Amino acid sequence: MLDRPTSKSGWEARAHALRIEGRAFIDGAYVASLSGKTFERRSPIDGRVIASVADCDQADVDRAVTAARRSFEAGVWRDQPPAAKKKVMLRFAELIRENLDLLALLETLDVGKVIGNSLAVDVPFCADCVQYYAELADKMMDEVAPVGPKDLAILRREPLGVVAAIVPWNYPLIISAWKLAPALVAGNSVVLKPAEQSPLSAIMLAGLAKQAGLPDGVFNVVPGFGESAGKPLGLHPDVDMVTFTGSTEVGKLMLRYAADSNMKRVSLECGGKSPHVVLADADLDAAASGIAWGIFYNQGETCHAGSRVLVHRSVHKALVEKIQTVQREQIGLGDPLDPAAQMGALIEEKHMERVLGYVDLARSEGATVTCGGTRVRRETGGYYVDATILDDARSDMRIAQEEIFGPVLVVIPFDTEAEALHGANDSIYGLAAAVWTQNMNAAHRFSSAIKAGTVWINAFDKSSLATPFGGFKQSGFGRDRSVHAVEKYMDFKTVWTAYS
Ligand code: NAD
Repeated sequence: MLDRPTSKSGWEARAHALRIEGRAFIDGAYVASLSGKTFERRSPIDGRVIASVADCDQADVDRAVTAARRSFEAGVWRDQPPAAKKKVMLRFAELIRENLDLLALLETLDVGKVIGNSLAVDVPFCADCVQYYAELADKMMDEVAPVGPKDLAILRREPLGVVAAIVPWNYPLIISAWKLAPALVAGNSVVLKPAEQSPLSAIMLAGLAKQAGLPDGVFNVVPGFGESAGKPLGLHPDVDMVTFTGSTEVGKLMLRYAADSNMKRVSLECGGKSPHVVLADADLDAAASGIAWGIFYNQGETCHAGSRVLVHRSVHKALVEKIQTVQREQIGLGDPLDPAAQMGALIEEKHMERVLGYVDLARSEGATVTCGGTRVRRETGGYYVDATILDDARSDMRIAQEEIFGPVLVVIPFDTEAEALHGANDSIYGLAAAVWTQNMNAAHRFSSAIKAGTVWINAFDKSSLATPFGGFKQSGFGRDRSVHAVEKYMDFKTVWTAYS
């Protein structure tokens, strides 16, 4: 095994020597799209083409769904004993770990996230997730309903069949694992559709799953540009469920596709505009650290990024200064292949322009651009925006309502608790929130009243595979992570036996 590079130039050399697989993975093999069409994948690091990727369409999706259906009906995976399933999935997790450096490099080249995070977070969290669900394989029980002494009513949990997982570009490995692992442990066959901006690690995962012993057809990957593969999957009459993470706009399309086809189940993890509420008595150093990391980590390309701060007017200026200090001292922007960098590139040029457009909008709406708001490292050819704070905002401004999905924090001062609560809930989204205060009574008044899937108290972004993740309102429904995530990939069948 090669030693892990310790410098930017070391990673660059490793990247240069890479031979990147861009084909789809269907029925246990890497294949070109039937049309022969491909699309170019440019790295956000420098705008250079790094791979040519199969552009799958209806015909490839049909092929993948047919393979998934065949494997499901043949029971090659579903009917394996729980201990055998567990063994394969544990081996899969191990192979992900054995390929840590390679997967991390692919993820960094593809997404522009910093290599340190890909190594310490994205790849390990993906492996841990597969392991977590592997370990559930032989611990899930059916139920017996209390129907009286002469009858036996078993509530048997059965897999749904073919599950399509459609995922976004910001955490490709982690979010793919959040879908794939519980769907597989439940016994389903899966067709994964990665985002066109970040298909590479998913393609590699499929090969590792096969190496681990997952039977052919049980896990397929169909990359596609725009809606070319996603729409036929959403509309497919032989897909039993779509598990989706992405924007609220495309999430709504999934509901339409289901209604226009076979009423397949849909689970949605969509956008967010997560608020921090900072009360006057908060530990400002802790809050500043949680807020700065919560928005600038992964360049703000995080669905639950704490992108709005509602702060009591008495501590407003002090807090903003502290957030800037944390960012300056700890969260430096740099080349994603530099192990010292903490913030990298935005996913693509179009997205960078969109983020910068919100900075212009902030000025015209009357907010103050306290820092950042500009494109940096332009000479690299990559897409970088520096850490940005838009201060003195109001909740009714578009910058406070719309998901910017970049390193852009919106700060809104308030005077009363009622105002803060109203502001926190004044959003179509409800993914996550945080409350910063020493007063636990106030903290729990907020944790009860805020409509969000996760509310942190004096923390931000703490997470565990044991806790469900997902949203209220237009952030979606259905939860990833935790033992409960498996439930959505199964359904009850009542088997009633009458004794004579
Ligand atoms: P997106 O909605 O544009 O794309 C998501 C997926 O849908 C991609 O695979 C894409 O190719 C596919 N897609 C796009 N148009 C389609 C269509 N017409 N039909 C079928 N499929 C289509 O989202 P994105 O830009 O990749 O990701 C960013 C969004 O994802 C943000 O809104 C972010 O908040 C959200 N997100 C949510 C969570 C969560 O857990 N709630 C996690 C990460 C990201």
